[in-house]
Amino acid sequence: MSDDPDGVAGYMQRAKQQALANVEHVAEGTAAETLPEGKLFEIAQSIGDRQLEELNVADTTCGYCAVGCRFDLYSDGEEVLAARPTDDEDAPVNGISTCVKGKFGYDFVNSDDRLTSPLVRDDNGEFRVATWDEALDRVAEGLGDVKERHGGDALSVIASSKATNEENYLMGKFARQVLGTNSVDNCNRLCHSSTVAGLAKTFGYGAASVSMEDLETTDCYLLTGSNTTEAHPVIATRIKQNVRDGADLLVFDPREVQIAEYATQYSRVDPGYDAVWINGITRHVVNNDLHDEAFVAERTTGFEKVKESVQAFTPERVEAETGVPPEEIAAAAETIAAADTCVFGWTLGLTEHSHGTENVMAMANLAAVTGNLGKPGTGVSPFRGQNNVQGGGGDMGPLPDNFPGYQDVADDEVRAKFEDAWDCEISPEYGHYTTQMFLAADEGDVRGMYVIGENSALSEPGVNHAEDVLADLDFLVVQDLFVTETARYADVVLPACSFVEKTGTFTNTDRTVQMVKQVMEPKGDSRPDWQILQDLAGRMGRDWDYDSTAEVMEEVNSLTPLYGGVTHDRVDAEGGLQWPCWDEDHPGTERLYADEFDTDDGLAHLHAVGFSEPAETPDETYPFTLTTGRVLYQYHTGTMTHREEGIMEYTPSDFVEIHPETAAEHGIESGDPVRVESERGAITVPAQVTDRVGPETVFAPIHFADSAVNRLTDEERLDPDAATPEFKVSAVRIAPADDDSGASTPTVGEASSDDAGTSTGDD
Ligand code: SF4
Repeated sequence: MSDDPDGVAGYMQRAKQQALANVEHVAEGTAAETLPEGKLFEIAQSIGDRQLEELNVADTTCGYCAVGCRFDLYSDGEEVLAARPTDDEDAPVNGISTCVKGKFGYDFVNSDDRLTSPLVRDDNGEFRVATWDEALDRVAEGLGDVKERHGGDALSVIASSKATNEENYLMGKFARQVLGTNSVDNCNRLCHSSTVAGLAKTFGYGAASVSMEDLETTDCYLLTGSNTTEAHPVIATRIKQNVRDGADLLVFDPREVQIAEYATQYSRVDPGYDAVWINGITRHVVNNDLHDEAFVAERTTGFEKVKESVQAFTPERVEAETGVPPEEIAAAAETIAAADTCVFGWTLGLTEHSHGTENVMAMANLAAVTGNLGKPGTGVSPFRGQNNVQGGGGDMGPLPDNFPGYQDVADDEVRAKFEDAWDCEISPEYGHYTTQMFLAADEGDVRGMYVIGENSALSEPGVNHAEDVLADLDFLVVQDLFVTETARYADVVLPACSFVEKTGTFTNTDRTVQMVKQVMEPKGDSRPDWQILQDLAGRMGRDWDYDSTAEVMEEVNSLTPLYGGVTHDRVDAEGGLQWPCWDEDHPGTERLYADEFDTDDGLAHLHAVGFSEPAETPDETYPFTLTTGRVLYQYHTGTMTHREEGIMEYTPSDFVEIHPETAAEHGIESGDPVRVESERGAITVPAQVTDRVGPETVFAPIHFADSAVNRLTDEERLDPDAATPEFKVSAVRIAPADDDSGASTPTVGEASSDDAGTSTGDD
């Protein structure tokens, strides 16, 4: 890139600095809003057309979060220089809006520590640079050896929701056809798999029923466990605009997150008790005849059992267990019932529990009894996290129990179809979920792993345990952009490409499949995941012969009814296609369940779900509840955002939020180092004293290796249906870091400054 301060690069650098100087407004990102956002828009817009003519341009989809914003990316062939709004019809989700990450977050692509060659571990235990031939031969030999000695089931694959749909399809195919294992899973296990399980049981599809238009036009929102402004900024902008126009916004959350500032009602809830207050709202609705009788009668089963089961959730019990007073439960119920339309939105605050599926099903019941499904402005809307976790993490079937399109591995007819197409035998037994892979490795049942674009050494629950597992594997190959914390345990590290260096599709949070287009050449000798997999399959006896990801998508649509009409040509020409899209003449599906649910009888199946206690509750030794989450300027374990200088200035480390009363009791002030300790480990982070959290709750983000909050979480307490860990509730104690009196018991795997460094890979 030219250093010319008057050139495009110099201009973009100044634009970035200006934008980041106004960070509190960057998340808004909409020109039509207040002045600062308009200013930001002008910054990117005002780069002269003449300057941009010299550059490569591609209309593509953001690689950060699953909102799925689209924009034009400009590159001089060596790095990304500018992101500008693309044509409106090509950006159905965001129009002209983006957030700071989508607009400016590209320094990671050319970061000095980007992996540009394969690495193999030498006899002396150190990595050295290798050719692709040597590295791939080592991988084929290492995985092949485990398979030969222990069988395919001793191998597992962790696929990447950062990669394209086509690549994730191939990751599932590679696991089953080449390695002979159903143990393939992805980061979905750590976040929304309880959403998928809960919604699939109730309505049929484990996905958002809404389209973005519903999110913009509904009369009412019930949002919970969603730090929307920070985790899904462009969706938050849509919601705030609609609230300004008169929609009701009900926010139930343990933290008074920023979106709560816009709420018509904010209720603080104790972490881990969501099904209690949701059932309490449903109880008020049905006991006061506020439910939608016609909808319940015509489109659901199980209503009477739900009505009976929610009777246990009296206002008194709800207040005792969640802290929400009766009048707030009644007000929320009446607001939802009075609204013509309502959207029920949530993120990981509802799902990352040992009973997340139960929480989701309680929410699904409430949506159904109030008739808020299948009509414009209504629906359930789990906001998905990673850019392609809906498509790559679910639809494409890198899952131990499902083929692409949620086709059941245990179904003989379905399995025969894939055995025929892939020319292999596939076991009807489900493989291990990601969380179970790490437990199975303890038992010696998993001995080799292929980890693609996932940083398990930071993102798994109980990372002290995950580190031990990774260190003890017979063979580990990691495929990523950087030498991640996970890659440090690998035998071979393969350099992959980012989304700006390859072409394919992502599927966003409202089921829209959108094009991702290459705007610059792969860095060094890095390769797109699909090419690496194809080369490796060839070395392991399978002749894949794809010339492009468009060809892979043709194979996907021939085997996956939900994607039957999805081709690159159509997605490109139509600016996006929402699944189900059954065939080439089908227009896609804007909103699920308009006519029927995806169940045997076409009805929504309501279940009496009750409530299960959190797996761990505070006690005398560990008196506080730790809950975890994200901040706007960082992204997951930091692969991309830690390499953005401007972003790092604003959030250089994790922290712990502590209520002022609690802080005073412990003699803690903002900025003081605080030791946070659970039964499993301890971390030290600076305090942020704030009444965003209640006196008995503390909050810490998840983004940094040197304060890896997952040293405090537990790897064994899993949701019984979805195997999601209890990330949102851990019992902890806190103390000033220099106070040896209380919480300083030495703990296994305590984080030290030596653990710092590149924090990479993303969950
Ligand atoms: Fe990218 Fe999400 Fe920001 Fe949109 S909201 S620009 S998809 S990170």
